[in-house]
Amino acid sequence: MAKPKLALYWAASCGGCDVAVLDTNEKILDIANLADIVFWPIAVDFKYHHVEAMKDKSIDLCLFNGAIRSTEQEKIARLLRDKSRVMVAFGACACFGGIPALANFTNRDGIFQRAYIEAPSNDNGNGTVPLIQTKVSEGELELPELFDTVLTLAQVVPVEYFVPGCPPPVDLIMKLVNLYAGGQLPPAGAVIASEKTLCDECPRIKGEKKITRIYRPHEIVPDPDRCLLEQGIICCGPATRGGCGLRCIEANMPCRGCFGPPPGVADQGAKLASAIASIYQGEGADNIKKMVEEMVDPAGTFYRFGLADSILRRKRLPKT
Ligand code: SF4
Ligand code: SF4
Ligand code: SF4
Repeated sequence: MAKPKLALYWAASCGGCDVAVLDTNEKILDIANLADIVFWPIAVDFKYHHVEAMKDKSIDLCLFNGAIRSTEQEKIARLLRDKSRVMVAFGACACFGGIPALANFTNRDGIFQRAYIEAPSNDNGNGTVPLIQTKVSEGELELPELFDTVLTLAQVVPVEYFVPGCPPPVDLIMKLVNLYAGGQLPPAGAVIASEKTLCDECPRIKGEKKITRIYRPHEIVPDPDRCLLEQGIICCGPATRGGCGLRCIEANMPCRGCFGPPPGVADQGAKLASAIASIYQGEGADNIKKMVEEMVDPAGTFYRFGLADSILRRKRLPKT
């Protein structure tokens, strides 16, 4: 019997999700035994035209990592969707927008201005920014167009499964592979992770949830046995799906939310803001002002991985 065909792709991605697949170590051989890899830009030299030449739905499983923020990424997402029977949003960026979607707090012009003009390491006296088309003596060069708004994969094409994490942990990757191999994939739309919150899985001692001051992680040495949030460190556990193996918590660091919202929560950042507001003990305008000042970068903390998938989705664009 022919092996199933597997495709992997990276869109707006750091490459960490691809490395996570390689991090399966010797289990990568199980994956290679199970499936023929027909497209994987980071590891195998297939070209886009090879994918275009495939029959529709001839790829059995596509693991798509990275958010969508350019015309090229959108085009390849649509191409792989046409060619794949099962499409998996793989990693926080594909599932929720992830770190790249923090760009939704600005827009393309703001990014170009900062990256190509203002950044102190630049030497760009002409103020050159990338153009979609550039005429040179040899002809015309073309670059993909960058969008103003970073999108999740499911905002571009239908997706069957979501594997969260930045990057997804090896055991969840193997769980997906084994569910697929055993013909036991759950109903479409499922998130391959825990159905609990991270707090439900966290073994730290939880007491009375009251805080009067917020600390950044470097400002105190937290007790490794007690809940970090109760020690005044913003931890996204109450608003985050479990299943990561408590990777940050075990390193005595707060959760930053890379598994996205738990079941039943539409907006991870709003849920976290509500959780913190409910335990903050300071009263009166002065105390509230102090708390807001102590909470450095609230938007980037509450929506670090989930802005594109949130109710806010992005900062309002200037009227043109
Ligand atoms: S989810 Fe994390 S590891 Fe994966 S591409 Fe995004 S930033 Fe990189
Ligand atoms: S807030 Fe963080 S440290 Fe506290 S119980 Fe939840 S996951 Fe654990
Ligand atoms: S503790 Fe939070 S941020 Fe860290 S890996 Fe788990 S879900 Fe992601």
